[in-house]
Amino acid sequence: MAGFMRYHIETERRAAVAQLRTRLTTLAEDRGRLVSDWLSTRRADAELLATSPSIRALLGAQEAGGETQAQLVSQLDRTARAYGYSAIAVLDTAGRTLARDSSAAAPGPEAPAAAAAVRSGTFRVAIGGEGPERASLSIAVPVHASRRGAGTRPILGVVVFRMPAGTSLFPLVTSATAGTRTGETLLVRLGGGPTAYLSPFRYESAGWQATERSVQTVEALVRAAPPNGTAFGEVADYRMVSGFAAVRQLASTPWTLLVKMDQDEGLAEFYQAGRLAGLAAASLILAFGALLIGLWRQHQRTLLLRAQIAQERAILTLKGYAEKILASIPSGLLLLTRDLRVLSGNRAILDLLGMTLDEVMGGPLDDLLRVDTLAQRAREVMRTGAPLHDMLFVAQLVSRGETRPVRITLTGIRLATDDAARLLMIVEDLAQEERLHEERRASEERFRDLVQGLDAIVWEAQADTLRFTFVSERAEAVLGYPVDRWLTDRAFWMGRVHPEDRDAVVARVRAAVLVGEDHAFEYRALAADGRAVWLRDMVHVVRDSVGRAVQLRGLTMDITERKQAADRLEELVAERTEELRRANTHLEQALTAAREAREAAEVASRAKSQFLANMSHELRTPMNAILGYTELILDNTYGEAPEKIRAVLGRVDRSGHHLLGLINDVLDLSKIEAGQLVLGLAAYSMADVVRGVAQAVEALVKEKTLELEVALPPELPAGRGDERRLTQVLLNLVGNAIKFTEAGRISVRVGVADDTFCVSVTDTGPGIAPEDQQKIFEEFQQVDGSNTRAKGGTGLGLAIARRIVELHGGRLWVESAPGRGSTFSFTVPVRVERRTRVVGVAAERRRPQA
Ligand code: ADP
Repeated sequence: MAGFMRYHIETERRAAVAQLRTRLTTLAEDRGRLVSDWLSTRRADAELLATSPSIRALLGAQEAGGETQAQLVSQLDRTARAYGYSAIAVLDTAGRTLARDSSAAAPGPEAPAAAAAVRSGTFRVAIGGEGPERASLSIAVPVHASRRGAGTRPILGVVVFRMPAGTSLFPLVTSATAGTRTGETLLVRLGGGPTAYLSPFRYESAGWQATERSVQTVEALVRAAPPNGTAFGEVADYRMVSGFAAVRQLASTPWTLLVKMDQDEGLAEFYQAGRLAGLAAASLILAFGALLIGLWRQHQRTLLLRAQIAQERAILTLKGYAEKILASIPSGLLLLTRDLRVLSGNRAILDLLGMTLDEVMGGPLDDLLRVDTLAQRAREVMRTGAPLHDMLFVAQLVSRGETRPVRITLTGIRLATDDAARLLMIVEDLAQEERLHEERRASEERFRDLVQGLDAIVWEAQADTLRFTFVSERAEAVLGYPVDRWLTDRAFWMGRVHPEDRDAVVARVRAAVLVGEDHAFEYRALAADGRAVWLRDMVHVVRDSVGRAVQLRGLTMDITERKQAADRLEELVAERTEELRRANTHLEQALTAAREAREAAEVASRAKSQFLANMSHELRTPMNAILGYTELILDNTYGEAPEKIRAVLGRVDRSGHHLLGLINDVLDLSKIEAGQLVLGLAAYSMADVVRGVAQAVEALVKEKTLELEVALPPELPAGRGDERRLTQVLLNLVGNAIKFTEAGRISVRVGVADDTFCVSVTDTGPGIAPEDQQKIFEEFQQVDGSNTRAKGGTGLGLAIARRIVELHGGRLWVESAPGRGSTFSFTVPVRVERRTRVVGVAAERRRPQA
């Protein structure tokens, strides 16, 4: 606000001053022009005279034209009169008066102007004389020699006009400065003599010092003015009144025109506005102050109200507390009047009396509780003011109709000095106290029994000294020292800890006590009989309010047996581990041997298979030749063969065919084993395979008077596989069935499930003992060696069949029991897309042959 005000005032003032500047500057310029014009006219007068021939003649520039001095004087007189000058003089360049008008004034005042005109070679003015009233204005113009060629014209002398300044020049200056109240115009001389005011003052001067100082302020202002321009500023005037002024130098003169105005007038409007503004500001401030005071009062009121509310709330809270405290005190409280009437009572007394508050209020004490001599004691308390404590009575509880031992305290209270005295009676039911005491004792006993009966030592010790303050009896049984020793020996426990465990135990306990942390640890202690006993301590650290450990409470258990069991267990584990390790080593060795054997066997097997394959091939060629020729001979191609030879050749032919079959089988097997048997996968019909086999064996079946039954489902999916090899498998199974079955039937069944064909051949033959059921699938294995000769066969058929089935991704197996016939079954996927290599499997399954 103040800042705004200041800003506003400053702006206003600046505007007022600017206005004043314009005004005064205009005035100064107008007045200056007036004075300059007037001076120019005077100069023109003088110059006119200066060019007159008489003057020139006087100054010796021309021959005197017969005119006399008298004529010149009369000319000067005329001129002076015509123009209103007080005197006219003609001087030579040295300042000597050569002629003057007849007014015959003393020479002198014109001298300075004349000298200046000679010096400057041009018109000059000067004011001389004592004070403005008698001041005389001199106007001097030089008289030049007439022009003679180029160059400056020499000065012959000076014409000086004189007139009183007070009646000529000064009125031009001092006439009232238009439109102002305090305005004043002054002529100041700066240079061309001492600085001074020339024109008369409008007001009385405050003395020469004031005038002097005033001139100085004007001089400063003039110096700041531009050449031939006007300056404006603040000055002090000759009265020492500060004012604003515009100054303007007058051309060709050492004078400055000063137009000034008192500051009061200059800023009057501003002050007027300022006063108004001040008034406004003052009322604003007043209003603001009033508002503040109003607010402050309101704040005070609010504070007071708030304090009052807080106080009331505190009282309410206190009352609430008091009521709660009263209600929770276990002792009975009764507030009584002087004449022992009940004023109030707490919950405990009502419980004791067995009455409600309404029943007891206002009634005499005697109706509730009768105690001998109580009235007398009450009076005593009221009289002396000293309370009576803990008096034991047997009180009769009127409402309950029973008596109780009670402890009564009586005390007089007076809440305020003007309040009637009251009696407070505190009643404690000793019967209840006794019961509580009894309960406590029982609880303690229970606790003691519990502690003493525990299978652990219960103890309490000081945290700093580790000295026991309580030890249960179990301690005696554990270490064999009486409890007394534990309690009285200062360092009993530490002394019993096994020397090897002592450092660790001490460190553990100290650390736990330091941080106040519950802990458990195990250690060995030495019993009275020298035994080492393993103990486990579980310790609770009791801390005080600042968290420092003050007491230790612990359980100590004898864990010797557990430790020993654990030790034994550890030994046992170590033993077993060692055994396991040894067994493991053996196993590894055995495995390595087995792997090596298997690798060797595989190598041998592959070599053998290769050899057999090669050999079979080599054998087949000559065999075919033998059989071919035998057949040719038997067919009588080489002529009629005698019967004897035919019989021999017949045996050769049979043996040869047998041998060829054997060779073919060996070749197949070898190929399989060597991984050279490749299935020719193509589409086939399982039904066709079965029917083809049935057809092939038809004659054999008939020959042995057996029955052949074929069970084909009506629709079988088209198969994909090696039809020739599958036919070989089925032929082998059916062939075996026929071969080993003497009577009964052979059934061939085909089923399909899960994209798999299942083909089984069942016979009513001798069956195969369980122990032989695996063997028969191995090469050259037959159930009964003699049977081979009896039935014929190589013992290779099933081995080859199984491998072929496996190459198809299927399985071949037998279910049989001696005397119950056999069922050989195999499965193959309906569609075999990829050949399965079974060489490794076959080699692994085979036992090394002797
Ligand atoms: P073999 O050429 O000796 O018949 P196989 O490998 O076909 O060779 O048969 C091996 C052996 O399995 C036979 O020698 C025979 O002891 C037994 N065997 C095979 N099929 C039957 C069957 N249907 N009933 C009883 N024993 C059989």
